[in-house]
Amino acid sequence: MERVRFAPSPTGYLHIGGARTALFNFLYARQKQGTFILRIEDTDLQRSSKESEEVIIRDLQWLSIEWDEGVGKGGDYGPYRSTERLHIYKEYVEKLLEEGKAYYCYCTPEELEQQRKQLLEKGEMPRYTGKCREMTRKEREALEARGLKPVIRFKVPQNQTISVNDLIRGKVEFDSSGIGDFVIVKSNGIPVYNFAVVIDDHLMKITNVIRGEEHLSNTPRQILIYKALGFELPKFAHVPLILGKDRTKMSKRHGSTWVEHYRDQGYLPDAIVNFLALLGWSPEGEQEFFTIEELVEQFSFDRVAKNPAIFDIDKLNWMNSHYIKKSPLDKITRLCVPYLIDAGFIQEDEVEAKFEWLKQVVETVRESLTVLSEIPAKTEIFFKDKISLEEENVHILKREHVKELINAFLKLLDETDRHIDDNLAKQIFKKVQKTTGVKGKNLYMPMRIMLTGKTHGPELFKVCSIMGKERLIKRLEYVKQNMIQ
Ligand code: GLU
Repeated sequence: MERVRFAPSPTGYLHIGGARTALFNFLYARQKQGTFILRIEDTDLQRSSKESEEVIIRDLQWLSIEWDEGVGKGGDYGPYRSTERLHIYKEYVEKLLEEGKAYYCYCTPEELEQQRKQLLEKGEMPRYTGKCREMTRKEREALEARGLKPVIRFKVPQNQTISVNDLIRGKVEFDSSGIGDFVIVKSNGIPVYNFAVVIDDHLMKITNVIRGEEHLSNTPRQILIYKALGFELPKFAHVPLILGKDRTKMSKRHGSTWVEHYRDQGYLPDAIVNFLALLGWSPEGEQEFFTIEELVEQFSFDRVAKNPAIFDIDKLNWMNSHYIKKSPLDKITRLCVPYLIDAGFIQEDEVEAKFEWLKQVVETVRESLTVLSEIPAKTEIFFKDKISLEEENVHILKREHVKELINAFLKLLDETDRHIDDNLAKQIFKKVQKTTGVKGKNLYMPMRIMLTGKTHGPELFKVCSIMGKERLIKRLEYVKQNMIQ
């Protein structure tokens, strides 16, 4: 039975790369009908926070990347937070110490810096020189008596080739001589990630470690610990880095790196998931839009690239607008509501009563949306009586016949006691044309500008029917009094 895990450190919010790693784990687990586990790796006490754990969880849920076991869900292999597992790590550290595979080190930061310099001067790779390896109990006691707090280092066997058989990268080899004896427990008694991750993956019976390529260089250290403790190795899969379009490390310049930002902007979770799946993985055919079920079916490590994936915000925008257009109108309208409330266009308690009307509003503009947060700007005309005009259109309303148009319209509106639908709006326009003799562009352009403030936009009859009689009258009155003198 396949068991995989996503193991974020709660030292920041959910990163785009982290979400992609979580997604690949999720897809693999679903495909194999295995188990997907969420484990929180919070051994970095200074940088970890409850808040970022909460945001990570919320964002994963928002993306519908659901886990079967772990934090918030429980399971047979818990606890699932590293800081709640300290007693477990201790047992294994003691085992290594007893077997002489790990040792206490009292070197001060100054000494370490000096060792580093000396190695560099000799043209060697800086690493720990093993100074405390053979320390006697007496020597240790003397140092402890001086109040020095040791770290615990793992004794790295020299001259060994460590091979990682990676499902994506193939065989990758490391020379153990390049790795100095590394710290596994800090002087505050807390184990470091490279140690805890091995104990956790082993005890949680993880079969496949799927994670970002930035962890490939940690893997030989972890393999050494697996071996020292006699644990069986899991399979490894290191998914490629995500770079910006200019092939430099993904950063703010390329678009935000936090999932949360995309949610706030009004990207749809389906679009983000679809986009993330294609960051490194490619399907066999030309298909670009995938449901989660299709991804589960088609995902494979064979088709995950070794070279970095490029984060292309234009592609994400394009995908998002596709999902906005194709999703059920009801769903999109619901998702737009918070933005309309934030903009002060509607009150929360009016939403249900106005929902059918809101759907029409959203429908008229959704083709033009890239992200949902654009909705207030695009629909302002349906909520406000006063409009602002684009500067270059002001002169169009100064033309002589405009006042005549307004009067004819107002008269016809006044005489109407029916609900104005698209059809009736069309008839009113026709009648205006007849009574004023103004037609074509001379009729439609000033009307559009008066009603929407712009020269382009949604279909005008539709605009009239959504605005309704009262707002149309108010709008035209406003223009008449303020804009055409
Ligand atoms: N806690 C590590 C991180 O957030 C996870 C590494 C791993 O998956 O082994 O990068």
